[in-house]
Amino acid sequence: MSRLFNFSAGPSTLPESVLQTAQQELLEWRDSGMSVMEMSHRGKHFAIIAEALEADLRELLSIPANYKVLFLQGGASAQFSLIPQNLMNGKTKACYINTGAWSEKAIKDAQPFCDVIVSASAENTHFTTIPEYASWHLDSDAAYLHYTSNETIHGVEFQSIPDNNGLPLVSDMSSNILSRPVDVSQFGLIYAGTQKNMGPSGVTVVIVRDDLIGHASKTTPAVFNYAEQAKNQSMLNTPATYNWYLVGLVLTWLKAQGGVAAIEQYNINKAAKLYQAIDNSALYRNPVDVAYRSRMNVPFILADENLDKAFLTAAEANGLQELKGHRSVGGMRASIYNAMPEAGVDALIAFMAEFERTH
Ligand SMILES: *Cc1c(COP(=O)(O)O)cnc(C)c1O
Repeated sequence: MSRLFNFSAGPSTLPESVLQTAQQELLEWRDSGMSVMEMSHRGKHFAIIAEALEADLRELLSIPANYKVLFLQGGASAQFSLIPQNLMNGKTKACYINTGAWSEKAIKDAQPFCDVIVSASAENTHFTTIPEYASWHLDSDAAYLHYTSNETIHGVEFQSIPDNNGLPLVSDMSSNILSRPVDVSQFGLIYAGTQKNMGPSGVTVVIVRDDLIGHASKTTPAVFNYAEQAKNQSMLNTPATYNWYLVGLVLTWLKAQGGVAAIEQYNINKAAKLYQAIDNSALYRNPVDVAYRSRMNVPFILADENLDKAFLTAAEANGLQELKGHRSVGGMRASIYNAMPEAGVDALIAFMAEFERTH
């Protein structure tokens, strides 16, 4: 067996110790006599797993008591249309900031359910920056303000919480949740698919302030109604039990790393090294505004795109996988989430230098 360094944007690399624990517990979880996969979601064993999962997430993100934490299905993509269905509460408009491919999808899927106001867009820069907060056109009648805190494809990340002009802030944190501390109390709703920074795919975390729920439009399916799911501890129907368990193992691992503040320092260091290697080379280039470069997803292009194929083949031969950029932007992308060890980044940097030397 040889586990290589996996730079995939998602599903993405998991801590090896998490996989080992899952392997050890695969046939029997503690003294339950069964695998987690086989447990009733309403049974006493799974109750322990579910309670620890929520408690650990609350602890890691210091989630205030007036916020519900939901573990849903359908991916972050389902939330794009479920957010307006749940949060409009009689209003007609919602503000969106367009900073890349994921913002665009969120906007498109919200449009059938509300009047989307695009308050600012970075499209004219090919999504290489974030428009100045002062230039945003925020409508005080809007139900909320939505932004994507880290654009996974374009490699653009908000470095601070934007001005919200009194609107509830809604943020897609799929690809940077738990990578840095965040003041949850500043938000109306935070959502994230788990397959970037929290575990395997199959669970969507929704953290939502109490007073915003309970006003869903009448056509909202019950399993996608935040208030209904909150009342039922996200078990209105059968949840993705094994995935909850795996996300729980990742949270336990993160606590053992020292939590979010500690992993942030690790992430800053990994990203700084990689960007420095890119900036110091003549072959590689990152097109993103330095002030908004993502710590999680590092896209880079080669000066000669005819070398792309050779680069990827040689990287693979050197144990570095999944470095191909998203089909919409081309080039390369290294995703370096919490679970990517510094050794993986070091190996990538060494490989890139050697490739540049020989090409
Ligand atoms: C991956 C990703 C999504 C989509 O997640 P799914 O779980 O596949 O629906 C949405 N937003 C961002 C920022 C992402 O990185």
